[in-house]
Amino acid sequence: MSEDKENSPSIRRARPHKFRRDRAHRETKVGRETHLKNATKDHYDVIVIGSGLGGMTSANCMARQGHSVLLLEQHYILGGLAQYFKRAGHIFDISLHGFPIGMKKTLRKYWSKELADNIHQVKSVRFDNPQFTIDTTFTREDFTRILVEEFKIEREQVIAFYDHLAKMNYYDQDNSTTRELFQKYFPDRTDVWRLLMEPITYANGSTLDEPAISYGIVFSNFMSKGVYIYHGGTDDMIDKMEVIMKENGVDICTSALVQKINTENGKVTGITVNGKTFSTNCVISNAGIHPTINRLVGRENFKPEFVQQLDDVKVNTSSTQVYLGIRKGEDIPFFGDLVFTSTHPEYDADALVDMEITSRTFSVYYPEIRPDRDNRYTIVASMNARFDDWNNLSDEEYQVAKNKMIDDTIKILEKYVPGIREKIDYAEAGTPRTVEYYTLSEMGTSFGTKFEGLEISSQMPKEISGLYHAGSVGIIMSGWLGAANYGVIVSNQADKFLHNIN
Ligand SMILES: Cc1cc2nc3c(=O)[nH]c(=O)nc-3n(C[C@H](O)[C@H](O)[C@H](O)COP(=O)(O)OP(=O)(O)OC[C@H]3O[C@@H](n4cnc5c(N)ncnc54)[C@H](O)[C@@H]3O)c2cc1C
Repeated sequence: MSEDKENSPSIRRARPHKFRRDRAHRETKVGRETHLKNATKDHYDVIVIGSGLGGMTSANCMARQGHSVLLLEQHYILGGLAQYFKRAGHIFDISLHGFPIGMKKTLRKYWSKELADNIHQVKSVRFDNPQFTIDTTFTREDFTRILVEEFKIEREQVIAFYDHLAKMNYYDQDNSTTRELFQKYFPDRTDVWRLLMEPITYANGSTLDEPAISYGIVFSNFMSKGVYIYHGGTDDMIDKMEVIMKENGVDICTSALVQKINTENGKVTGITVNGKTFSTNCVISNAGIHPTINRLVGRENFKPEFVQQLDDVKVNTSSTQVYLGIRKGEDIPFFGDLVFTSTHPEYDADALVDMEITSRTFSVYYPEIRPDRDNRYTIVASMNARFDDWNNLSDEEYQVAKNKMIDDTIKILEKYVPGIREKIDYAEAGTPRTVEYYTLSEMGTSFGTKFEGLEISSQMPKEISGLYHAGSVGIIMSGWLGAANYGVIVSNQADKFLHNIN
């Protein structure tokens, strides 16, 4: 690891890569047959492609239902976007910032009580922007208090808004947008819109002009009973999931890049991975819907109308992140678990993804997150970002932009923790290119596709018998909870399919 003397001399940074890393390069990294040594059979009841939370949950459920399961992951580590990395004595979580309480139930029901017991509510979520500075527990009660007492909205109006959200139903085919919903209940109150929308945009990239139903579902899940996090860290959770899957009989291979899903006469017949073919009647793909159809199965195997519909599906934005490691032995005061900061005058979805960053969310990992590591702190700043903005940079520009992002982030952080620069001993930045490279996620999307992707995902088995998709789509089936729950839903469908064909 080298130091970047030009910027912050005392803060170590990652060495720039010698060559450009992108999806095309990653896809040349086909593993060897020895990477498949854990695959003990030539035929499996079901083969799961990808070990994101959707893929792993599907694999685990299918194995618990008594099926033989092969789980194939192209990376050398499981987890997909639910990932972490270790550098200079620090462990950095990539996507463990917060999720709804439902994760506790999902882990208990489909994984284990031990995992569920590690879910804890974050104590304080802070907003700091030109329109307001508030601390909240992110519960319905607290939002109601803030809207009534601080934003001076009539209590009845707030209750009516919550009631409206509670009654929203995915199957109602309501085409109204989130902007219309806000305008109805809080006309022209851009400060209220910001409070209600900014965390959701941060969380999944959605905007005011998307279907109100996707907002309603995410809001009702996310902003009603608080924000939760996994104590132990992503590494602990993924390691435990791997043990559970193995106990349930899942054969797991990493460095196993699936190149092809084989089909014949509209039916799944097998897959090709690292040059070897396995037969199966059922595949659950946890790769995105675009790569599954375009690259793994092949567009020519689907009806033209279906492929046309796929081409209209947009992916969500990606993210940039700055990872800051606090020197061993240093303490920092509590300043919130999740801190939504912005210098932008109002909520603005475009500004949130702009390379000229004005809004950052700090996730602060205090020692209780990893109690087994004595007194370590890390901070991760997350920003939404457009893939093309970063992908179009030359390697030199890319490096400059990453360093600037790190320096600007530390400057902003100084406002909340004066003197923090002296306590940071390691800094690293991730970009949409990083996300795409390591997970093959389409254009580095952090939350899969927009709303319309759900239809394509759920219709795949109608196009190709035995082909299922589980993974971030439609916003509501994304995030840690959405992806895991979708994994359960899809495994139930695949289980029925296998019973029928047998
Ligand atoms: C920076 C960031 C921050 C986030 N923060 C949060 C948060 O705070 N809370 C939250 O709930 N969610 C968060 N998310 C989103 C959340 O992590 C994802 O929605 C979820 O983890 C996605 O799970 P998935 O099942 O869709 O699969 P993915 O995580 O997308 O995994 C897919 C897997 O498939 C593998 N794969 C792809 N193609 C192949 C192939 N051909 N052969 C073999 N393997 C293949 C990939 O390597 C990958 O492991 C964040 C995401 C990012 C990027």
